[in-house]
Amino acid sequence: MGRAFVYVILGGGVAAGYAALEFTNKGVSNGELCIISEEPVAPYERPALSKGFLLPEAPARLPAFHTCVGANEERLTPKWYKEHGIELILGTRVKSADVRRKTLLTAAGETISYKYLIIATGARALRLEEFGVSGSDAPNVCYLRDLADATRLVDVIQTSTGGNAVVIGGGYIGMECAASLVINKINVSMVFPEPHCMGRLFTPKIANYYEEFYKTKGVNFVKGTVLSSFVFDPEGKVTGVNLKDGTYLPADLVVVGIGIRPNTSLFEGQLTLEKGGIKVNSQLQTSNSSVYAVGDVASFPVKIFGETRRLEHVDAARKSARHAVAAIMEPDKTTDFDYLPFFYSRVFSLSWQFYGDNLGEVVYFGDFSGTSFGAYWVHKGQLVGSFLEGGSKEEYEAIAKVTRLKPVIEDLSELERQGLDFVVAL
Ligand code: FAD
Ligand code: NDP
Repeated sequence: MGRAFVYVILGGGVAAGYAALEFTNKGVSNGELCIISEEPVAPYERPALSKGFLLPEAPARLPAFHTCVGANEERLTPKWYKEHGIELILGTRVKSADVRRKTLLTAAGETISYKYLIIATGARALRLEEFGVSGSDAPNVCYLRDLADATRLVDVIQTSTGGNAVVIGGGYIGMECAASLVINKINVSMVFPEPHCMGRLFTPKIANYYEEFYKTKGVNFVKGTVLSSFVFDPEGKVTGVNLKDGTYLPADLVVVGIGIRPNTSLFEGQLTLEKGGIKVNSQLQTSNSSVYAVGDVASFPVKIFGETRRLEHVDAARKSARHAVAAIMEPDKTTDFDYLPFFYSRVFSLSWQFYGDNLGEVVYFGDFSGTSFGAYWVHKGQLVGSFLEGGSKEEYEAIAKVTRLKPVIEDLSELERQGLDFVVAL
C-alpha cells in the first residue's frame, strides 16, 4: 500500500499551515502536496491554546484559529485544503523515515513517497518522569502542547473553580497558564527552580515587574525549588504536591510547563543534527538535499548573529516554513534566510515583545512602576536586543527595525537617557 507526492510536509502544526499557503502562492498543482499529521485537525495557531482557548468567556475554538490567521492571512480550513488539491492525512503518525529511499512509513502501514520532504514535526513537552518524578499521568495533571491537551486542561479547569492550582515551571507555558487560571478564578502557586520567572529571557529587574503584577492578582511564587512528589487520593487524583524544600501545596489541578524537546527521532542517524535540532542551511535544506526542516525542529543559521540556533517560537515557524517553500519552488530567486528572532507574550492586560538577542549589558528605559518600559542589550558596542512592554504598534515596529540594524552604541548612559526615543528617532 502506498502513495506518491511531489511535496510532503511531515507534521501538521503552525509551520505546515504557513508552508501550505506559500505552496499555493507559488503555484503547486492539484494532488502534488500532502500534509501528514498525528493531530486529527488541520493546522492551527498553537499560541491560542494557552491564551484565548483557556478563557472562561467566549473562548477561542476551531475553526476560528486555523492557520494562517495569526499573520492576518487567509484562514485555512479543511475546505480550503480540499479546494486547493492539498491532501490532509490527519490522525496519522509517521513511525519511520528513509531519506535515502525518500519514503515515510505511517503507523497504519502506508508507505508515502516524496520528491521533496519538509520536516515540520515541532516538539514534545518534557515530562516530569524525565526528572525522576512519577505520577504525571494522573487525570488532573496537565501538560500543554496540542489541542487534545488544551481540551483536557479546560475540562479540569471547569471542575476546579475556586480551588487550587500548582503550576510547575516559570517559562512561557507557566506564565501564560497561570494568568489564564487566575482569570478562571483558581488560586495559583507557581513553582520553579530559578530565582526568577522567564529565566532564559528576562533579567531579574524585568522578571520582578511581572512577578509583582502576578502577586497583585493573587499568584503565590515558590522559587528556587522543584517538585519532589505528588500526593494522591484513593482514585489516583492528585490532591497536593511535595516540594524539595519541604513545602506542601494542596492542588486540585497541576499544570506542567518545563520545556520541550524537538521531534527529531525519525531522522537521527540519517540527517545531521545540531543544538538539539535538525541542522539546515540558509535555504532550510538539511544534510540531504531533498529534505528541508522548519519551525521548532530546525537549527538554522541566524545570519544577524553569525551562528546556528534553534528557536521555539511561532514567528520563526511561520517564516522558516515560507522560506523553505520558496527555496524548493524558486531556488534561483530565493536569497538566504535572514531572520531576526522575535518573541512575545500576552498575559492579563500586559503585552511584551522582544527582538534580537539578550546578550551583553542591559540598559533600561521607561517607567517600571507604570505600564510601559523596556530594555536594550548592548554587546561589543552594538545594540543587539530590545524588549518593550506596553508599546504601540509603531513602537514595536521601531524596536524591530532598529535592532535589525545593530547600531553602534558609544555611550550607554546616553542610550538610557534617550530610551524609546532612540529607536523612534532612527
Ligand atoms: P508544531 O506547531 O508543534 O507542529 C508539529 C506537528 O507535527 C504537530 O501537529 C504534531 O502532531 C506533528 N507531528 C510530530 N511528529 C509527528 C509524526 N511522527 N507523525 C505525524 N505528525 C507528527 N510561540 C510564540 O512565539 N508565541 C506564543 O504566544 C506561543 N504560544 C504557545 C502556546 C502553546 C500552548 C504552545 C505549546 C506553544 C506556543 N508557542 C508560541 C510556540 C509555537 O507554537 C511553536 O514555536 C510553533 O507551534 C512551532 O511550529 P511547528 O510547526 O514547528 O511545530
Ligand atoms: P520554557 O523553556 O519556556 O520554560 C520551562 C521552565 O521550566 C523554565 O523556567 C525551566 O527552568 C523550568 N523547569 C525545567 N525543569 C523543571 C523542573 N524539573 N521543575 C520545575 N521547573 C522546571 O518551556 P515551556 O514549557 O514554558 O514552554 C514550552 C514551549 O512552548 C517553548 O518552546 C515555548 O517557547 C513555547 N511557548 C511559547 C509561548 C510564547 O512564546 N509566548 C507561550 C507558550 C509556550 P530552567 O530554565 O532552569 O530549565
